[in-house]
Amino acid sequence: MTQTKVKLLKNYIGGRWVEANTEKTEEVYNPATGEVIAHVPISTQSDVDEAVQRANLAFEDWKEVPVPKRARILFKYQQLLVEHWDELAEIVTTENGKSFKEAQGEVQRGIENVEFAAGAPSLMMGEQLPSIAADLESGVYRYPIGVVGGITPFNFPMMVPAWMFPMAIVTGNTFVLKPSERTPLLANRLAELFEEAGLPAGVFNIVHGAHDVVNGLLDHKDVAAISFVGSQPVAEYVYKRGTEKLKRVQALAGAKNHSIVLKDANMDNATTQILNAAFGSAGERCMAASVVAVEDSVADEFIEMLTQKANEISIGNGMDEGIFLGPVIRDKHKERTLEYIDTGEKEGATLVRDGRKDEDAQREGYFVGPTIFDHVTTEMKIWQDEIFAPVLSITRVKDLESAIDLTNQSRFANGACLFTKDGGSVRQFRETIDAGMLGVNIGVPAPMAFFPFSGWKDSFYGDLHANGKDGLQFYTRKKVLTTRWV
Ligand code: NAD
Repeated sequence: MTQTKVKLLKNYIGGRWVEANTEKTEEVYNPATGEVIAHVPISTQSDVDEAVQRANLAFEDWKEVPVPKRARILFKYQQLLVEHWDELAEIVTTENGKSFKEAQGEVQRGIENVEFAAGAPSLMMGEQLPSIAADLESGVYRYPIGVVGGITPFNFPMMVPAWMFPMAIVTGNTFVLKPSERTPLLANRLAELFEEAGLPAGVFNIVHGAHDVVNGLLDHKDVAAISFVGSQPVAEYVYKRGTEKLKRVQALAGAKNHSIVLKDANMDNATTQILNAAFGSAGERCMAASVVAVEDSVADEFIEMLTQKANEISIGNGMDEGIFLGPVIRDKHKERTLEYIDTGEKEGATLVRDGRKDEDAQREGYFVGPTIFDHVTTEMKIWQDEIFAPVLSITRVKDLESAIDLTNQSRFANGACLFTKDGGSVRQFRETIDAGMLGVNIGVPAPMAFFPFSGWKDSFYGDLHANGKDGLQFYTRKKVLTTRWV
């Protein structure tokens, strides 16, 4: 029986499915129905110790496996992921709620990370200078760092772990993953397929649970590095505690992504892109559009077109044909979102579209319809906080410069988008906006696997980002050999 069909999930340690040393479990829900689909163990320090010990043992052999041989296992893994594409997407939709189409897209993003990592033989190459002086040469060689711990959020159960473990593993490290306890099912299927691809026991391990597992990984003397993706407060905590223990840490955090719409923009494109970016995946993307600064003279036209399109959005179970907007992750998150909508009204913003009133938002499950506020200001909580739900705030600005000034007041700096046809505006935007991932005339400028996922300010703590050459460097260390030829 595949691990995703069991009622009480197991940990995957040393190539075996083992029960966690705990009585404590949490319920895993299908957020579209409210139904309990599994129970996840809240593992303890002893589970972490066992996983790290097995990973550490496996590291001794795995680091000696030639890089092309390691890459070949990833090629096989890629094939298996492609073969199981829809099955994986269905698990994502069932535990996360996003539409099946979006889940298919997420699986694609995950597969792309495996494809990029399979290029390890080229990526791992060093550099040489044959003549640093007479008869003297130097060269750089690249090596793995040991056991890596990965801690991931609920919103991308496939893509975010895939930012981490394929590159960490192909470069010769071993890995312990702590998936989100709210979406833990997919990780187990990913492990089964990796085993089928020929990955030796102990190279990839999973310990399910919550903060105890995270602390266990952060404090463990045999964990060399931590890759974290999640909310801002937890990212800051993980970064501080991990670096205090002298580990390498990359901590990707929360966001509040700004889009700027200028008067020369193609309005049909701008509204479609922003609609997708704000309400796709129920706004539960770290790259979701959450604030739009629109030039005064086109603000009415923009809002009218956007609202019309939002009225056509289909709300429901992501597995049903044609559904665009699925549920948010939990009832508590729905309550929190509704509180933010109340707050926005109390703060004096104009509620243009009230997603609380959508008929389909009343059904079983945790639904909130697309919600749009106008006349939002920087003092308002709905402008400042990451709501992580289908709620969009609009501000009206006089020009590009004031839009950029406004955007740069945010403590977050993950993504920012500009909608315009003017090259000069694009250049000004690129040079002066505070954000790590920029888009022009697109809504979600999430970089592909071979580029770094490069948030700034409170959206990222660390030096080397996830993905691209940053990812490779994060998971490797170097030796420099200097030789005198005598
Ligand atoms: P979260 O911070 O609640 O959880 C992330 C992980 O941290 C989970 O595995 C969780 O078990 C663990 N965790 C939670 N509280 C903890 C604590 N007190 N101590 C130790 N560990 C703890 O995040 P989430 O709600 O699962 O995910 C959504 C958040 O992730 C959003 O803020 C989103 O912006 C962010 N995110 C960021 C990126 C990025 O690239 N910057 C990508 C995806 C998601």
